[in-house]
Amino acid sequence: MNVPVFGTRFKSVNRSCPCPFCDHTDWCFFTHPDDPPMPDGSDGVLIYCQRVSGLKFGETITGSDGDTYVCVGNTSGGATVFEAVSQYIARHPNTKTAKELGGTGYVRGDVIKQKPFTVEKEIQPLSSEQLNRAYSIMVSMFKLDPEDREKLHRDGMTDDVIAFNQIVSLPEPDAYRFNNKKYKSVNPLRKDVGEKIRKAMGGSIEGIPGLYYNSAGKATIAGLGGILYPQYDLYGNIVAMRIGVKRRWKDDKGNDITKEEYEHAAAEAKAQGMRTNYVQLGKYMNLASYAEDRDALQKRIVKNRYLGGCRSGNHLGFYKSPGKADLEFIYITEGEKKAMIAADILNSIVVDVPGVNSHTLLYLDSDTPSPLSILKDHGTRAIIVAYDADKNHNEAVLKAQNGLVDALSEMGFGIAIAEWDEAKGKGLDDFLVNGGTIEYHFVRSCSF
Ligand SMILES: [Zn+2]
Repeated sequence: MNVPVFGTRFKSVNRSCPCPFCDHTDWCFFTHPDDPPMPDGSDGVLIYCQRVSGLKFGETITGSDGDTYVCVGNTSGGATVFEAVSQYIARHPNTKTAKELGGTGYVRGDVIKQKPFTVEKEIQPLSSEQLNRAYSIMVSMFKLDPEDREKLHRDGMTDDVIAFNQIVSLPEPDAYRFNNKKYKSVNPLRKDVGEKIRKAMGGSIEGIPGLYYNSAGKATIAGLGGILYPQYDLYGNIVAMRIGVKRRWKDDKGNDITKEEYEHAAAEAKAQGMRTNYVQLGKYMNLASYAEDRDALQKRIVKNRYLGGCRSGNHLGFYKSPGKADLEFIYITEGEKKAMIAADILNSIVVDVPGVNSHTLLYLDSDTPSPLSILKDHGTRAIIVAYDADKNHNEAVLKAQNGLVDALSEMGFGIAIAEWDEAKGKGLDDFLVNGGTIEYHFVRSCSF
Protein backbone atom coordinates (compact mmCIF):
# COMPACT_ATOMS: atom_id res chain seq x y z
CA MET A 1 0.00 0.00 0.00
CA ASN A 2 1.30 3.39 -0.91
CA VAL A 3 0.21 6.51 0.98
CA PRO A 4 1.25 9.69 -0.80
CA VAL A 5 0.69 12.20 1.97
CA PHE A 6 -1.41 12.04 5.03
CA GLY A 7 -2.35 14.83 7.35
CA THR A 8 -1.26 18.39 7.82
CA ARG A 9 1.13 20.48 9.92
CA PHE A 10 4.14 18.23 10.16
CA LYS A 11 6.06 18.24 13.43
CA SER A 12 9.29 16.41 14.03
CA VAL A 13 9.75 14.06 16.98
CA ASN A 14 12.14 15.51 19.54
CA ARG A 15 13.64 14.84 22.94
CA SER A 16 10.51 15.66 24.86
CA CYS A 17 8.33 13.80 22.37
CA PRO A 18 10.18 10.78 20.98
CA CYS A 19 8.76 8.34 18.45
CA PRO A 20 6.70 5.74 20.35
CA PHE A 21 7.82 2.98 18.00
CA CYS A 22 11.58 3.34 17.66
CA ASP A 23 12.12 5.74 20.61
CA HIS A 24 14.37 7.95 18.48
CA THR A 25 14.24 11.72 18.78
CA ASP A 26 14.81 12.56 15.14
CA TRP A 27 13.61 11.80 11.59
CA CYS A 28 10.19 10.38 12.58
CA PHE A 29 7.34 12.90 12.67
CA PHE A 30 3.73 13.66 13.54
CA THR A 31 0.90 15.10 11.48
CA HIS A 32 -2.78 15.79 12.11
CA PRO A 33 -5.28 13.71 10.16
CA ASP A 34 -7.37 15.66 7.66
CA ASP A 35 -9.09 13.03 5.55
CA PRO A 36 -11.36 12.33 7.33
CA PRO A 37 -10.69 14.82 10.13
CA MET A 38 -11.41 14.06 13.78
CA PRO A 39 -15.21 13.88 14.25
CA ASP A 40 -15.07 15.93 17.46
CA GLY A 41 -13.05 18.73 15.81
CA SER A 42 -9.91 17.99 17.81
CA ASP A 43 -6.48 17.78 16.16
CA GLY A 44 -5.77 14.07 16.41
CA VAL A 45 -2.39 12.65 15.52
CA LEU A 46 -0.77 10.38 12.94
CA ILE A 47 2.75 9.13 13.55
CA TYR A 48 5.22 8.48 10.75
CA CYS A 49 7.95 6.16 11.97
CA GLN A 50 10.91 6.13 9.58
CA ARG A 51 12.61 3.15 11.19
CA VAL A 52 10.05 0.48 12.05
CA SER A 53 8.84 -1.33 8.98
CA GLY A 54 7.42 -4.68 7.97
CA LEU A 55 3.89 -3.96 9.21
CA LYS A 56 0.85 -4.20 7.01
CA PHE A 57 -2.31 -2.14 7.03
CA GLY A 58 -4.48 -3.13 10.00
CA GLU A 59 -1.72 -4.74 12.07
CA THR A 60 -1.51 -3.46 15.62
CA ILE A 61 1.47 -2.81 17.81
CA THR A 62 2.02 -1.43 21.29
CA GLY A 63 3.97 1.81 21.43
CA SER A 64 6.51 2.50 24.14
CA ASP A 65 3.92 4.90 25.60
CA GLY A 66 1.69 1.90 26.31
CA ASP A 67 -0.99 2.79 23.73
CA THR A 68 -2.09 0.34 21.08
CA TYR A 69 -1.60 1.60 17.53
CA VAL A 70 -2.71 0.36 14.16
CA CYS A 71 -0.65 0.57 10.99
CA VAL A 72 -2.62 2.70 8.51
CA GLY A 73 -0.14 2.74 5.65
CA ASN A 74 3.40 2.79 4.34
CA THR A 75 4.86 5.67 2.37
CA SER A 76 6.93 5.21 -0.75
CA GLY A 77 9.78 6.78 1.23
CA GLY A 78 9.73 3.83 3.64
CA ALA A 79 7.91 5.34 6.60
CA THR A 80 5.16 3.42 8.39
CA VAL A 81 2.13 5.48 9.39
CA PHE A 82 0.49 4.69 12.72
CA GLU A 83 -2.64 5.86 14.45
CA ALA A 84 -3.96 5.04 17.93
CA VAL A 85 -6.59 2.30 17.61
CA SER A 86 -9.21 4.38 19.48
CA GLN A 87 -8.63 7.31 17.12
CA TYR A 88 -8.83 5.11 14.04
CA ILE A 89 -12.19 3.75 15.17
CA ALA A 90 -13.44 7.27 15.85
CA ARG A 91 -12.46 8.45 12.36
CA HIS A 92 -13.63 5.37 10.48
CA PRO A 93 -16.56 4.15 12.61
CA ASN A 94 -18.32 1.98 10.07
CA THR A 95 -15.44 0.27 8.36
CA LYS A 96 -14.46 -3.36 8.44
CA THR A 97 -11.08 -2.52 9.95
CA ALA A 98 -12.68 -0.50 12.76
CA LYS A 99 -14.91 -3.46 13.53
CA GLU A 100 -11.96 -5.83 13.53
CA LEU A 101 -10.16 -3.48 15.88
CA GLY A 102 -13.05 -3.67 18.31
CA GLY A 103 -15.18 -0.73 17.23
CA THR A 104 -18.67 -0.15 18.64
CA GLY A 105 -20.86 -3.19 18.97
CA TYR A 106 -18.13 -5.70 18.42
CA VAL A 107 -16.33 -7.78 20.97
CA ARG A 108 -12.69 -6.91 21.05
CA GLY A 109 -11.02 -10.25 20.85
CA ASP A 110 -9.41 -10.93 17.54
CA VAL A 111 -6.89 -8.11 17.66
CA ILE A 112 -3.39 -9.48 17.70
CA LYS A 113 -1.27 -7.54 20.14
CA GLN A 114 2.30 -8.01 19.12
CA LYS A 115 5.30 -7.35 21.29
CA PRO A 116 6.93 -3.98 20.53
CA PHE A 117 9.90 -3.82 18.21
CA THR A 118 13.34 -3.61 19.74
CA VAL A 119 15.43 -1.13 17.81
CA GLU A 120 19.19 -1.51 18.06
CA LYS A 121 21.02 1.75 18.52
CA GLU A 122 22.01 3.10 15.14
CA ILE A 123 25.25 4.75 14.17
CA GLN A 124 24.49 8.40 13.47
CA PRO A 125 25.97 10.24 10.48
CA LEU A 126 28.99 12.46 11.12
CA SER A 127 28.84 16.26 10.94
CA SER A 128 28.46 17.96 7.56
CA GLU A 129 32.11 19.04 7.60
CA GLN A 130 33.33 15.52 8.30
CA LEU A 131 31.03 14.01 5.67
CA ASN A 132 32.36 16.55 3.21
CA ARG A 133 35.91 15.41 3.95
CA ALA A 134 35.03 11.76 3.38
CA TYR A 135 32.92 12.27 0.26
CA SER A 136 35.44 14.70 -1.23
CA ILE A 137 37.99 11.85 -1.18
CA MET A 138 35.41 9.61 -2.84
CA VAL A 139 34.73 12.02 -5.71
CA SER A 140 38.45 12.69 -6.15
CA MET A 141 39.22 8.96 -6.55
CA PHE A 142 36.34 7.97 -8.82
CA LYS A 143 36.12 9.23 -12.40
CA LEU A 144 33.09 9.63 -14.57
CA ASP A 145 32.77 6.67 -16.91
CA PRO A 146 32.78 7.84 -20.59
CA GLU A 147 29.47 6.04 -21.10
CA ASP A 148 27.94 7.89 -18.15
CA ARG A 149 29.29 11.17 -19.43
CA GLU A 150 27.59 10.59 -22.77
CA LYS A 151 24.34 9.89 -20.96
CA LEU A 152 24.62 13.16 -19.01
CA HIS A 153 25.37 15.03 -22.24
CA ARG A 154 22.22 13.57 -23.78
CA ASP A 155 20.28 14.87 -20.76
CA GLY A 156 21.59 18.35 -21.45
CA MET A 157 24.42 18.54 -18.94
CA THR A 158 27.63 20.25 -20.04
CA ASP A 159 31.15 19.21 -19.01
CA ASP A 160 31.37 22.44 -16.99
CA VAL A 161 28.29 21.50 -14.95
CA ILE A 162 29.58 17.94 -14.50
CA ALA A 163 32.95 19.20 -13.23
CA PHE A 164 31.43 21.96 -11.09
CA ASN A 165 29.12 19.51 -9.33
CA GLN A 166 31.82 16.79 -9.10
CA ILE A 167 29.71 14.05 -10.68
CA VAL A 168 31.51 10.69 -10.91
CA SER A 169 30.67 7.01 -11.48
CA LEU A 170 30.37 4.42 -8.76
CA PRO A 171 31.69 1.16 -10.23
CA GLU A 172 29.86 -2.11 -9.76
CA PRO A 173 30.62 -3.87 -6.44
CA ASP A 174 34.07 -5.49 -6.23
CA ALA A 175 32.56 -8.99 -6.08
CA TYR A 176 30.74 -8.36 -9.35
CA ARG A 177 33.99 -7.26 -10.93
CA PHE A 178 35.74 -10.46 -9.85
CA ASN A 179 32.91 -12.66 -11.08
CA ASN A 180 32.36 -10.92 -14.40
CA LYS A 181 35.67 -10.76 -16.19
CA LYS A 182 34.10 -8.87 -19.09
CA TYR A 183 33.22 -5.96 -16.83
CA LYS A 184 35.60 -3.07 -17.34
CA SER A 185 35.79 0.12 -15.33
CA VAL A 186 37.92 3.24 -15.37
CA ASN A 187 37.59 3.25 -11.60
CA PRO A 188 39.52 1.73 -8.68
CA LEU A 189 38.05 -1.02 -6.51
CA ARG A 190 35.51 0.10 -3.96
CA LYS A 191 37.55 -1.25 -1.08
CA ASP A 192 40.60 0.78 -2.15
CA VAL A 193 38.51 3.95 -1.97
CA GLY A 194 36.92 2.78 1.30
CA GLU A 195 40.30 2.13 2.88
CA LYS A 196 41.69 5.48 1.73
CA ILE A 197 38.73 7.23 3.33
CA ARG A 198 39.11 5.18 6.51
CA LYS A 199 42.77 6.24 6.85
CA ALA A 200 41.97 9.89 6.16
CA MET A 201 39.17 9.81 8.72
CA GLY A 202 41.45 8.63 11.52
CA GLY A 203 40.90 4.89 11.15
CA SER A 204 37.09 4.65 11.23
CA ILE A 205 34.34 4.87 8.64
CA GLU A 206 31.50 4.82 11.18
CA GLY A 207 28.99 7.55 10.51
CA ILE A 208 29.70 7.84 6.77
CA PRO A 209 26.56 6.68 4.95
CA GLY A 210 27.49 4.26 2.18
CA LEU A 211 30.60 2.91 3.88
CA TYR A 212 30.82 -0.29 5.91
CA TYR A 213 33.24 -3.05 6.87
CA ASN A 214 33.24 -6.17 4.70
CA SER A 215 33.70 -9.69 6.08
CA ALA A 216 37.48 -9.26 5.86
CA GLY A 217 37.24 -6.14 8.02
CA LYS A 218 38.12 -3.79 5.16
CA ALA A 219 36.24 -0.54 4.65
CA THR A 220 34.26 -0.57 1.42
CA ILE A 221 31.26 1.02 -0.27
CA ALA A 222 27.69 -0.31 -0.45
CA GLY A 223 25.08 0.21 -3.14
CA LEU A 224 24.47 -0.50 -6.79
CA GLY A 225 26.79 0.89 -9.42
CA GLY A 226 25.70 4.04 -11.22
CA ILE A 227 26.25 7.77 -11.49
CA LEU A 228 27.12 9.48 -8.19
CA TYR A 229 25.63 12.92 -7.68
CA PRO A 230 26.92 14.81 -4.63
CA GLN A 231 24.29 16.55 -2.53
CA TYR A 232 25.47 19.87 -1.15
CA ASP A 233 24.22 21.67 1.92
CA LEU A 234 23.74 25.44 2.10
CA TYR A 235 27.43 25.92 2.84
CA GLY A 236 28.71 23.76 0.00
CA ASN A 237 29.53 20.68 2.05
CA ILE A 238 28.83 17.33 0.39
CA VAL A 239 26.44 15.85 2.95
CA ALA A 240 25.17 12.88 0.95
CA MET A 241 25.56 11.07 -2.32
CA ARG A 242 22.75 10.07 -4.64
CA ILE A 243 23.15 7.18 -7.04
CA GLY A 244 21.50 7.33 -10.41
CA VAL A 245 21.16 3.62 -11.04
CA LYS A 246 21.20 2.09 -14.48
CA ARG A 247 18.03 0.33 -15.46
CA ARG A 248 18.33 -3.31 -14.46
CA TRP A 249 16.10 -6.25 -13.73
CA LYS A 250 16.14 -8.86 -10.97
CA ASP A 251 14.26 -12.10 -10.42
CA ASP A 252 12.55 -12.94 -7.13
CA LYS A 253 15.87 -14.18 -5.72
CA GLY A 254 17.77 -11.03 -6.60
CA ASN A 255 19.63 -12.48 -9.61
CA ASP A 256 20.25 -10.31 -12.66
CA ILE A 257 17.88 -10.99 -15.55
CA THR A 258 17.34 -9.34 -18.91
CA LYS A 259 14.68 -6.81 -19.69
CA GLU A 260 12.98 -9.39 -21.93
CA GLU A 261 12.89 -11.95 -19.10
CA TYR A 262 11.37 -9.37 -16.82
CA GLU A 263 8.72 -8.35 -19.35
CA HIS A 264 7.90 -11.97 -20.07
CA ALA A 265 7.39 -12.73 -16.37
CA ALA A 266 5.30 -9.57 -15.91
CA ALA A 267 3.06 -10.45 -18.87
CA GLU A 268 2.65 -14.03 -17.67
CA ALA A 269 1.68 -12.92 -14.17
CA LYS A 270 -0.74 -10.36 -15.58
CA ALA A 271 -2.45 -13.02 -17.67
CA GLN A 272 -3.12 -14.88 -14.42
CA GLY A 273 -4.38 -11.73 -12.73
CA MET A 274 -1.29 -11.49 -10.56
CA ARG A 275 1.80 -9.36 -10.18
CA THR A 276 5.29 -10.63 -10.79
CA ASN A 277 7.83 -10.79 -7.97
CA TYR A 278 10.51 -9.78 -10.43
CA VAL A 279 11.62 -6.21 -10.06
CA GLN A 280 12.75 -3.38 -12.26
CA LEU A 281 15.34 -1.19 -10.60
CA GLY A 282 16.22 2.25 -11.71
CA LYS A 283 16.35 5.92 -11.01
CA TYR A 284 17.78 7.49 -7.92
CA MET A 285 18.60 6.29 -4.44
CA ASN A 286 20.67 7.46 -1.52
CA LEU A 287 24.14 6.07 -1.08
CA ALA A 288 23.72 4.40 2.29
CA SER A 289 25.01 1.43 4.21
CA TYR A 290 21.83 0.51 6.00
CA ALA A 291 19.45 -2.34 5.34
CA GLU A 292 17.25 -4.06 7.83
CA ASP A 293 18.46 -7.48 8.86
CA ARG A 294 15.58 -9.69 7.70
CA ASP A 295 16.29 -12.53 10.15
CA ALA A 296 16.38 -10.15 13.11
CA LEU A 297 13.16 -8.52 11.90
CA GLN A 298 11.39 -11.87 12.22
CA LYS A 299 12.23 -11.66 15.92
CA ARG A 300 10.93 -8.06 15.93
CA ILE A 301 14.42 -6.61 16.25
CA VAL A 302 15.34 -3.74 13.96
CA LYS A 303 19.06 -3.79 13.19
CA ASN A 304 21.46 -2.91 10.39
CA ARG A 305 23.04 -5.75 8.45
CA TYR A 306 25.97 -3.56 7.34
CA LEU A 307 28.75 -3.58 9.92
CA GLY A 308 29.70 -0.02 10.87
CA GLY A 309 27.24 1.35 8.32
CA CYS A 310 24.48 3.92 8.63
CA ARG A 311 21.56 5.57 6.86
CA SER A 312 21.98 8.71 4.86
CA GLY A 313 18.73 10.35 5.91
CA ASN A 314 16.82 12.69 3.68
CA HIS A 315 18.67 15.80 2.61
CA LEU A 316 17.97 18.90 0.66
CA GLY A 317 20.49 19.61 -2.09
CA PHE A 318 21.58 23.18 -2.83
CA TYR A 319 22.86 23.63 -6.36
CA LYS A 320 24.51 26.71 -7.76
CA SER A 321 25.48 27.91 -11.16
CA PRO A 322 29.13 27.73 -12.20
CA GLY A 323 28.59 31.41 -12.97
CA LYS A 324 27.33 33.93 -10.46
CA ALA A 325 24.14 33.15 -8.56
CA ASP A 326 21.92 35.61 -6.77
CA LEU A 327 20.38 34.77 -3.39
CA GLU A 328 17.42 37.13 -3.68
CA PHE A 329 15.17 34.53 -5.21
CA ILE A 330 15.71 30.79 -5.34
CA TYR A 331 14.02 27.87 -7.06
CA ILE A 332 12.72 24.69 -5.51
CA THR A 333 12.38 21.52 -7.54
CA GLU A 334 12.56 17.76 -7.06
CA GLY A 335 15.63 15.82 -8.20
CA GLU A 336 19.35 16.60 -8.09
CA LYS A 337 20.15 16.28 -11.77
CA LYS A 338 17.24 18.55 -12.57
CA ALA A 339 18.45 21.07 -9.99
CA MET A 340 22.03 21.03 -11.32
CA ILE A 341 20.96 21.65 -14.92
CA ALA A 342 18.39 24.29 -13.96
CA ALA A 343 20.87 26.14 -11.69
CA ASP A 344 23.25 26.43 -14.62
CA ILE A 345 20.68 27.64 -17.16
CA LEU A 346 18.79 29.94 -14.76
CA ASN A 347 22.00 31.20 -13.14
CA SER A 348 20.32 30.75 -9.77
CA ILE A 349 20.36 28.64 -6.67
CA VAL A 350 18.08 25.65 -7.14
CA VAL A 351 17.11 23.58 -4.13
CA ASP A 352 16.48 19.89 -4.67
CA VAL A 353 13.74 18.55 -2.42
CA PRO A 354 14.14 14.77 -2.20
CA GLY A 355 10.54 13.78 -2.94
CA VAL A 356 7.79 16.38 -3.09
CA ASN A 357 6.59 15.45 0.40
CA SER A 358 10.01 16.23 1.87
CA HIS A 359 9.49 19.99 1.58
CA THR A 360 9.12 20.05 5.37
CA LEU A 361 12.93 19.76 5.51
CA LEU A 362 13.01 23.38 4.38
CA TYR A 363 11.28 24.79 7.42
CA LEU A 364 10.49 22.07 9.96
CA ASP A 365 11.05 23.05 13.58
CA SER A 366 14.12 21.45 15.10
CA ASP A 367 17.07 22.31 17.32
CA THR A 368 18.88 24.28 14.63
CA PRO A 369 17.63 27.10 12.36
CA SER A 370 15.86 25.83 9.26
CA PRO A 371 17.47 26.28 5.82
CA LEU A 372 14.77 28.79 4.86
CA SER A 373 15.34 30.93 7.92
CA ILE A 374 19.07 30.95 7.15
CA LEU A 375 18.38 31.96 3.55
CA LYS A 376 16.04 34.67 4.77
CA ASP A 377 18.84 36.04 6.95
CA HIS A 378 21.11 36.07 3.90
CA GLY A 379 18.75 38.07 1.74
CA THR A 380 16.41 35.58 0.09
CA ARG A 381 13.04 37.26 -0.47
CA ALA A 382 11.16 35.08 -2.89
CA ILE A 383 10.85 31.40 -3.68
CA ILE A 384 9.87 29.96 -7.04
CA VAL A 385 8.29 26.54 -6.84
CA ALA A 386 9.10 24.49 -9.95
CA TYR A 387 7.78 20.98 -9.50
CA ASP A 388 7.17 18.79 -12.55
CA ALA A 389 4.57 19.93 -15.05
CA ASP A 390 2.41 16.87 -14.42
CA LYS A 391 1.46 18.34 -11.02
CA ASN A 392 -1.75 19.64 -12.55
CA HIS A 393 -3.01 16.12 -12.89
CA ASN A 394 -1.07 14.52 -10.06
CA GLU A 395 -2.94 15.04 -6.82
CA ALA A 396 -0.03 14.11 -4.55
CA VAL A 397 2.29 16.67 -6.17
CA LEU A 398 -0.38 19.35 -6.11
CA LYS A 399 -1.13 18.69 -2.45
CA ALA A 400 2.57 18.82 -1.55
CA GLN A 401 2.92 22.08 -3.49
CA ASN A 402 0.00 23.61 -1.60
CA GLY A 403 1.54 22.56 1.71
CA LEU A 404 4.82 24.18 0.72
CA VAL A 405 3.08 27.39 -0.39
CA ASP A 406 1.26 27.59 2.97
CA ALA A 407 4.50 27.22 4.91
CA LEU A 408 6.32 29.78 2.74
CA SER A 409 3.45 32.26 3.17
CA GLU A 410 3.64 31.84 6.91
CA MET A 411 7.33 32.77 6.77
CA GLY A 412 6.52 35.85 4.68
CA PHE A 413 8.38 34.90 1.51
CA GLY A 414 7.26 36.09 -1.88
CA ILE A 415 6.09 33.09 -3.86
CA ALA A 416 5.71 32.26 -7.52
CA ILE A 417 4.78 28.98 -9.17
CA ALA A 418 6.76 28.18 -12.31
CA GLU A 419 4.49 27.01 -15.09
CA TRP A 420 5.39 25.60 -18.48
CA ASP A 421 3.98 23.66 -21.34
CA GLU A 422 4.30 19.99 -20.51
CA ALA A 423 4.65 19.16 -24.19
CA LYS A 424 8.03 20.91 -24.10
CA GLY A 425 9.30 18.84 -21.15
CA LYS A 426 7.88 17.33 -18.00
CA GLY A 427 10.74 18.33 -15.71
CA LEU A 428 12.21 21.79 -15.29
CA ASP A 429 15.50 20.56 -16.80
CA ASP A 430 14.04 19.00 -19.97
CA PHE A 431 11.97 22.08 -20.53
CA LEU A 432 14.90 24.49 -20.11
CA VAL A 433 17.23 22.33 -22.19
CA ASN A 434 14.61 22.46 -24.96
CA GLY A 435 14.88 26.24 -24.84
CA GLY A 436 11.55 26.91 -23.10
CA THR A 437 10.70 30.04 -21.14
CA ILE A 438 9.06 29.81 -17.73
CA GLU A 439 5.80 31.58 -16.99
CA TYR A 440 5.60 32.82 -13.43
CA HIS A 441 2.33 32.60 -11.63
CA PHE A 442 2.70 35.02 -8.71
CA VAL A 443 1.06 33.86 -5.49
CA ARG A 444 2.10 36.57 -3.04
CA SER A 445 4.76 39.20 -2.62
CA CYS A 446 7.40 39.29 0.08
CA SER A 447 6.19 40.75 3.37
CA PHE A 448 9.49 41.46 5.10
ZN1 LIG B 1 10.16 6.03 14.75
